[in-house]
Formats: sequence, C-alpha cells, structure tokens
Amino acid sequence: MIPDILKIRKDFPILDQKVNGKPLIYFDNAATSQRPIKVIERINEFSLLINSNIHRATHFLANKTTEAYEASRETVRQFINAAEPAEVIFTHGTTESINLIAFSFGETFVSSGDEVIVTEMEHHANIVPWQMMCERRGGILKVLPFNDSGVLCLEILDTLITEKTKIIALAHVSNTLGTINPIKEIIEKAHQRNIPVLIDGAQGAPHLKIDVQALDCDFYAFSGHKIFGPTGIGVLYGKRKWLDKIPPFLGGGEMIDRVTFTKTTYNQLPYKFEAGTPNYVGAIGMASAIDYLNENGNQLFIDYEHELVTTATLQLKKIEGLKIYGEAPLKAGVVSFNIAGIHSFDLGILLDQLGIAVRTGRLCADPVMDHFGVENMVRASFAFYNTVEEIEIFYKALIRIKAMF
Ligand code: PLP
Repeated sequence: MIPDILKIRKDFPILDQKVNGKPLIYFDNAATSQRPIKVIERINEFSLLINSNIHRATHFLANKTTEAYEASRETVRQFINAAEPAEVIFTHGTTESINLIAFSFGETFVSSGDEVIVTEMEHHANIVPWQMMCERRGGILKVLPFNDSGVLCLEILDTLITEKTKIIALAHVSNTLGTINPIKEIIEKAHQRNIPVLIDGAQGAPHLKIDVQALDCDFYAFSGHKIFGPTGIGVLYGKRKWLDKIPPFLGGGEMIDRVTFTKTTYNQLPYKFEAGTPNYVGAIGMASAIDYLNENGNQLFIDYEHELVTTATLQLKKIEGLKIYGEAPLKAGVVSFNIAGIHSFDLGILLDQLGIAVRTGRLCADPVMDHFGVENMVRASFAFYNTVEEIEIFYKALIRIKAMF
C-alpha cells in the first residue's frame, strides 16, 4: 500500500513551486526536510496567542506555554518509547545532543588512556565532539571501518573493544551511504562488556521506527528539522541511570536547584540539562510534526521511502559511468553518487537549473570521502512526499546532463 501522495503534498505548499521555470523536485531531505502546514500553523497559533517563558511564572500564558512544552516532551517520549519523560532532553539538535554527552560523560567517565569507539562512516557531528573530549581528557579515539559496500566491519569490533573502552558512538543510518547499521547487535555486544552506546539518530528518526527501550541504547540523538519540524530544536534521549550520574553541560536558568556563591546544586532530570530559555516554540513545533507522522501512518511512510530509495538506485545504476557509494542490503533515505568526468558541483548546479535540489560536496563526512578517494559526492535524499515520477525526471535530467559533457 502506498500513501496518497497527492493529498500529502497539499500539506507541504513549499513543494508546489517552480524553480528556474521547472516544478521543484526536492531531493535534499537528509539536510533538512520540509514542514507540513500543520506545524507552521501550530507555531503561528502559539506565537499569536500563547507565547510566554516557561517554568518561571504563575501567570496564565506562562502556565499554558509550560503545559504545551511538557506535552511536547510526552509526545517525543511516545515517539521513541522512552521509559519516562525525564529521559527526554530538549537540545538545539543532534549536534548539541552529542556534544552534551561527549562533554558530560567524558568529565565523569573518561580519563587518560581510556578509549572511545566511533565508526568510519560518521557525520562530523559524531566525530569532532569525541575528539575534543579525548583531547581534554587524554582519551584515545578508535575507529570501526566499513567495507566498500558501506557495511560496517563488525568482525573487527571485538578486537577494538578493550577494558579501556568507555563508550561507543555510531549512526543509526549513515547520512552519506544510507546504511542502516545493525545497532541492536552492536548495543548487545557492548553491553556484555558494560559499555554504553550513543546512537546518532539524525538520519534514523526520519526513516525508521524508533524504540529506545527495545534497542536498549543508552543515548539517542536526533533533530527536529529532519523529522519535518522546525530548526533549532532536537532531542537527547538518555537512560536515567547515566543522566543521573553525569554533570550538566551548560550552566544557568532552569538547570539549577539552589545557587549560592559557594556552591550550586542542580535541578532534577530533565531540567538539569536544559540551561537557559529552551526553544519551547521549536519543541511544540516538533511535537506537531510527530503528530502529523502519527496521524498519517508513519509505518506507511517508512515503507514507501524504502521503495523510493530502491527505485532511485535501480534507475541510477542504468547510467553508464555513475558510481553509487553505499550498497548495503539495508539502506534508508539517501543515494550518494558521482558520474565519471563530471564534477559534483557542476552536476548540482545543472540539476538546479532543472528545478532539482540535491546536495553536493563532502556531506560533512570527510572520512567517507577519504575511504572512496573522492573529493565530493552528489546526494539525493528522499522523503514520503517525493514520487516515483520525480525520480524518473531526475534520471532523465542526469542522462541529459551527461550528454552535455
Ligand atoms: N548526524 C547525522 C548523521 C546527520 O546527518 C546530521 C545532519 O545532517 C547531523 C548529525 C547533525 O545534525 P544537526 O545539524 O541537525 O545538529
């Protein structure tokens, strides 16, 4: 069964426009997805009628805002099946969520000679915070490689894990290769050695059903703007047993219990990690995006997006000289490629002339570029509002551009 795409597309007016005289084809969803009217209206309505700072007043609007903010936390809790709302922390996005854990976990659990494992296919947001933490704490960063199909070399993981391993951090879905990693298996393996696992879910949450309790992950991070919500809002899920043990990341605002000049005590979860005025408008908008997914049958979307990736892969493979990076058996959301003899930037610009938005460049994943010995890639990434017809137009556009070179 496929979703009623024409009906769905009406919920996304941004898609109904011409770019360079051609109907827009938006294939840059892995960077930022579009928002349904419902989300935009919710944010507007909230700003028109309710807006007030949360948690800090007794007046009507402040109470209304606080209620809406906490209801959004509950919506997120259900979306990822966290055990309790206190395990859902609002951040500015995946990047901040990972930085929070790299800092706070590092302060408590990592000291000189300890080890952190990431994978070769990580987005920079899941490399650099760990590197910074290792520099600060004297830790050592180890890397689990992937093979040329874009599949993690799991057999090597056993040799990387030692009694010094303090945490493993990896993507649920690679933003360049599209690989869906076997995170449950990795989490089980890590837990046999009492090692916690952080999952970068920036590309997982938009395309897969997330159940943090079934996965048993210790931390899961994702961004609002990639799940059809606003920018500047994201989530850090963490198991209470870890969050209770680590110090705050930022200081000030709601994260305090009592402040004196000699000592400050900290608030309970989740507020301990929400310093300053949170992006409550963003949280409310993100919850509205989750409601939209739930109302329209998220599983239907997930299956349909899988079909789009498969269709695009089959079509692109017909083009001589086109190389796809990442051919794992389980993929979600993205197809990255290059065409021999055509610079990816030229391809991006010419596609744009035809109204087609793709991403080109290093895709915030330098180590993946290094693995394949390329400078750049082109990435087409899909959402449930894309169509097979758009893929056909994309395919024909690539043929046309190729003929020009
Ligand atoms: N991790 C992955 C796998 C991503 O794809 C991205 C963004 O593209 C990020 C982290 C960073 O997300 P944000 O910029 O929303 O913090």
